Amino acid sequence: MGILKIAETETNKAGAKNVSLIELEIGTLAGVELQALDFAWGQAVKNTVLENAVKKIDLIKAKGKCMECDSVFPLEHIYDPCPNCNAYLKGILQGKELRVKALEVD
Ligand SMILES: [Zn+2]
Repeated sequence: MGILKIAETETNKAGAKNVSLIELEIGTLAGVELQALDFAWGQAVKNTVLENAVKKIDLIKAKGKCMECDSVFPLEHIYDPCPNCNAYLKGILQGKELRVKALEVD
C-alpha cells in the first residue's frame, strides 16, 4: 500500500512515532471502493505508524472536458459522453486522484 509507505517516510522524517491524522484525496474515478478501503484499512495499518490515525477522506468528483466543444462536465463514469455534443473524446480534468493530502504526527 503506497499510502503506508508515504506515512512511514513522513513520520520518520519528523522524528515522530505515530500518525495522528491522515487526510486522503480520492477521485471518484480512481478505482477505489470506499467500503473496500475501509475494510482493508484496519488490517493494513495494524502495527504500523497508521494504527491509531484518524482517517479523513476528501472525495473529488470527476470532471471531464470535451475535446470537441470544450464543455466541462461532471463525469459519473469514465465512458460518459459529452452532454452537450455527445462526443466521447474528452480529457479528464480531475477524478483520478489518490493521494495523501495531509498528515499529522505525534
Ligand atoms: Zn462536447
